[in-house]
Amino acid sequence: MLEKVAKFYWFSVIFPPKGSMSRPLNILFLSSEVEPFAKTGGLADVSSALPHAIKELGHEIRIMMPRYRFISERRFKLHDIIRLKDIPVPVGKNSEIANVKSSFISNLKEKVQVYFLDNATYFGRDGIYQSPIGKKDYKDNDARFIFFCRGVLETLKRLGWQPDIIHCNDWQTGIVPAYIKTIYSTDSFFKPIKTVFTIHNMAYQGSFPSESFEKTGLPKSLFQAEGVEAYGKFNFLKTALYFADSITTVSERYAAEISISDEFGAGLNGLLARRKKDLRGILNGIDYQVWNPATDEFIYRKYDAKSLDAKPDNKRALLSRFHLPFKETTPAAGAISRLVSQKGFDLVLEILEDLMKMNVQFILLGDGEKSIEKHFEALQKKYPQQIGVFFGFDKELAHLIEAGSDLFLMPSKYEPCGLNQMYSMRYGTIPVVRATGGLDDTVEDYSGNGRGTGFKFEKYDSREFLKAIQRALKVFHQPEEWKKLMRNGMARDFSWEHSAKLYVNLYRELLRQ
Ligand code: ADP
Repeated sequence: MLEKVAKFYWFSVIFPPKGSMSRPLNILFLSSEVEPFAKTGGLADVSSALPHAIKELGHEIRIMMPRYRFISERRFKLHDIIRLKDIPVPVGKNSEIANVKSSFISNLKEKVQVYFLDNATYFGRDGIYQSPIGKKDYKDNDARFIFFCRGVLETLKRLGWQPDIIHCNDWQTGIVPAYIKTIYSTDSFFKPIKTVFTIHNMAYQGSFPSESFEKTGLPKSLFQAEGVEAYGKFNFLKTALYFADSITTVSERYAAEISISDEFGAGLNGLLARRKKDLRGILNGIDYQVWNPATDEFIYRKYDAKSLDAKPDNKRALLSRFHLPFKETTPAAGAISRLVSQKGFDLVLEILEDLMKMNVQFILLGDGEKSIEKHFEALQKKYPQQIGVFFGFDKELAHLIEAGSDLFLMPSKYEPCGLNQMYSMRYGTIPVVRATGGLDDTVEDYSGNGRGTGFKFEKYDSREFLKAIQRALKVFHQPEEWKKLMRNGMARDFSWEHSAKLYVNLYRELLRQ
């Protein structure tokens, strides 16, 4: 039976029913982070690349995001939309004012319009979710994103542009589907709109004390297990999982993991299991216009699969930036990440001294928890010839690390999709990853005779991780075999086009219902 359903699904993807191709769709894409305006992680990359890919398929897609203070009006040519000025947005008993600004993001082929919801009280700050100094979440994140979700709908109505689909991403946009299904459902403007919610990470749920719920203006009756409540709290993510017409997540393996296990599903696996038929894994792609070693302006020397001899110059440049000695035959392992426990830094720390004994150099670019920073800092002082660390967010350095490293380490506890392992493969840098979520779906384990694109280990255990690195180093010291792996990864197609088509098919399925 399952096989039949799967066959039918793929058949309909490849040969969509007659007539369904005809009408371009209108899609509103909501995200709290969009490259190049605001970014803490992969969500920002996706929120820029996916809308472009959908637009390239011929659809009208526009983005809405908050206008944080650091998004420069001048640099990004933000302009006011006069008719979208002073929009009252109810938040609790008050009415807050939203002003809408607009700009575009362009790639070589398409231009996508971005609307910014501006409100100085909520978004006139230096951080996205937390203050950059002290790194504490803003206390009013509930009100900030209630304002955003409701403000989006109020803006849409005044804009007079009716999307077929509102595509929401992560908890910050999670109550939009609930608004559409309840207090806005009697409005003929909103009634036909279908909602898709994409989970980029189950661990971030937007869980707030029950009193926060009152600020939403949603019917009180929704505050229950069959609604917005989870474990006594008001939960944005749960609200989305309950009300969205369709739920997606960013890899097939993660879709399975979060609906069967309490650990991955972070307490919401029961609901996800119930909504199984509405849950789908669609793998993220990577933006080849941004991440391409043949055109990358941020790296020292450009290269492609036919000119791999240029790659070591990037390694030399990278190591010299960290004042580390360069030797082509000394393996350099890189890592770029938010410094949070999800990313498996405890495993890295447990084996780092072993790696030092194995003559490995290690370069880390990380931003996040101070406690993790401290451990790496101490080890860097102990091994100044072998370890380089930079704490903070540095886009250009991220590119150089991808180009200059031989190996890329990503031993995540869980990983919804992960972009860095795909960037690594694209740059001929071999990933060593834990076989979870998107890491498992995208990396093919080395199986001898030049087959594979990286090295995987199953159990979340530092010895297993070390064994995978040892397997990798063995191949690293056979340069011809290593080059085959590099080329295999570089030849993989992780472009967005395929995934964008899957999203459009999903939108069409919803609209046919
Ligand atoms: P996540 O979304 O969980 O953070 P991903 O691998 O999906 O992980 O995406 C991470 C994105 O953020 C990549 O584009 C990566 O290059 C970037 N990134 C993470 N940390 C940093 C940093 N400290 N400086 C620059 N870029 C970073």
